[in-house]
Amino acid sequence: MENDELLFMKEALLEAYKGFEKGEVPVGAVLVYKNQIIARFSNQVESLVDATAHAEMLCIRRGAIVMGNWRLAGCTLYTTLEPCPMCAGALISSRVDRVVWGAPDLRQGAGGSLISLLGPSHPIHTIQIIAGVLAEESASLMKNFFQRRREWSKFLTSSSSCNVGKLKNVPSPSFQI
Ligand SMILES: [Zn+2]
Repeated sequence: MENDELLFMKEALLEAYKGFEKGEVPVGAVLVYKNQIIARFSNQVESLVDATAHAEMLCIRRGAIVMGNWRLAGCTLYTTLEPCPMCAGALISSRVDRVVWGAPDLRQGAGGSLISLLGPSHPIHTIQIIAGVLAEESASLMKNFFQRRREWSKFLTSSSSCNVGKLKNVPSPSFQI
């Protein structure tokens, strides 16, 4: 594995971690052109209230502005998770040269885990794929996030039922007219 791949994937992981801290599903991505990062994002689905605000999509949009061209030829996208079908479609349409990803996404991965959109036989554009870079780190961040979210939602459920119980014991206010 080349050093650059590790270096840029670490930057994508840093973005994923920023997302984690903001309560977003912790996926991060960086877009690289001529060995320089031209866009970097974490998922912003919750903060932008936008189902399409995946880290990869945000990088593609910003990258087009930076390059002054929707064709991102010569660019490599590093993402901590295997791209979903939406992002894979956008990556093909934007003509990115290479995609490097970390952990596989068994539920939504369009790089072969669920479906295969990024295969070498795509009729419009072929993307060079490198999979599994820092996969364990990316996967463990995701695992921690969902574990914490489950614990938090369990806590909220139990404490809210507790409040309901308490409220039931509160005597109803009596009004006298
Ligand atoms: Zn996506």
